[in-house]
Amino acid sequence: MRQYKPLSEPIPLAPTLAQRLVQLREMRNLTCRDLARYSRLPLKRVEDIESGIETWLSSVDRQKIAKALVIEPSVLQEVEVRNNIDDEKYMQEICEQIAKSILAGAANLECPSCGGRLKSNIQDALDIEGNSTYFARAFCLNCPFVLK
Ligand SMILES: [Zn+2]
Repeated sequence: MRQYKPLSEPIPLAPTLAQRLVQLREMRNLTCRDLARYSRLPLKRVEDIESGIETWLSSVDRQKIAKALVIEPSVLQEVEVRNNIDDEKYMQEICEQIAKSILAGAANLECPSCGGRLKSNIQDALDIEGNSTYFARAFCLNCPFVLK
């Protein structure tokens, strides 16, 4: 059978920032730790980007990563998204965790937006059926964050 495929077919790049970063890093034979070191970014940040928690980069970070991977910054930029739905979903999950912690008696919690201190309390209210129920309430002392 004849082969029509060229021998060095370009590898298609992954469609999301997270997948593409993993792909490019592996093509360069780097670990997350290596990439963090070469790009001078915290390891946690590299991991957050690779797990899709962070879906876009500041231009400074983009350049650092691009330089570490020896690629054009545009290779990363073209798959970046500022996805408000994802941010909201992420925030919602965090808020649920905070509410649970407050109801479990935790105090001095950290604000998920700014890392400041949250002022929290538990309020009891009646639910639709007239039963007493507890709500966690919290707001940040530093920024406009309010637990919803
Ligand atoms: Zn805050």
